[in-house]
Amino acid sequence: MKIILLGPPGAGKGTQAKQIADKFKIPHISTGDIFRKNIKEKTVLGIKAKDYIDKGKLVPDDLTVAIVKDRINRDDCKSGFLLDGFPRTVNQADSLNEVLKNMNSRINYVINIDVPRKSLIQRLTGRRVCKSCGASYHIKFNSPKKEGICDVCGGNLVQRDDDDLNTVINRLEVYDKQTAPLIDYYKKSDLLCTVDGDKDVDLVFKDICNTLEKCGR
Ligand code: ADP
Ligand code: AMP
Repeated sequence: MKIILLGPPGAGKGTQAKQIADKFKIPHISTGDIFRKNIKEKTVLGIKAKDYIDKGKLVPDDLTVAIVKDRINRDDCKSGFLLDGFPRTVNQADSLNEVLKNMNSRINYVINIDVPRKSLIQRLTGRRVCKSCGASYHIKFNSPKKEGICDVCGGNLVQRDDDDLNTVINRLEVYDKQTAPLIDYYKKSDLLCTVDGDKDVDLVFKDICNTLEKCGR
């Protein structure tokens, strides 16, 4: 099962992706997580990506496509994978089609998580992530048991640098211009299913599972 999770920043892609990946036992591939890991480790890729990410811009397609191509060619992706945050441009989507075609494969589902702008801003500016394990929380909607401490590993919770209000506004503009056209792109190839993401996390997850069952590709 090869799935793309589409949606604006803050739609809940990462939150849902963890549950979907657990349920269907497929790897969760988040390009944002891969970039952040590389930034932390100060790799060449991380150094190149940091400038773009800090400004809320997209990392250039050639760098992004290369990391996804490398990742989905690994053995654990043979029976499926879940892409979170990729593709983000039409050019990335075309490249992904090409890479999969060369592997005699294709995407089975594109789940678009729809959330109104006001909720997105609230979600992004209130998001906190664990510095050690990357688990994601929200100060209001999904708070940890102990303030500032990760439930999973006890690490410290911090705000992502790109979750400040100004960068969030930039990221949403970038989404409108460069990523939103993918909704029509995947509608045309008859792969798109949209779920209402403006509900409780568990209800959104239920809708996604029902949608995957209904589509049955
Ligand atoms: P994305 O990966 O799409 O950027 P995240 O999964 O990181 O989004 O979610 C963004 C923020 O919104 C996080 O703080 C998360 O805890 C919170 N969140 C996710 N889903 C919901 C939801 N259904 N209702 C309220 N808050 C949510
Ligand atoms: P995310 O964790 O998905 O919110 O991504 C954080 C940041 O990483 C984005 O704002 C971009 O700067 C960069 N990024 C993640 N995925 C992509 C992608 N597919 N294409 C370009 N840049 C990306």
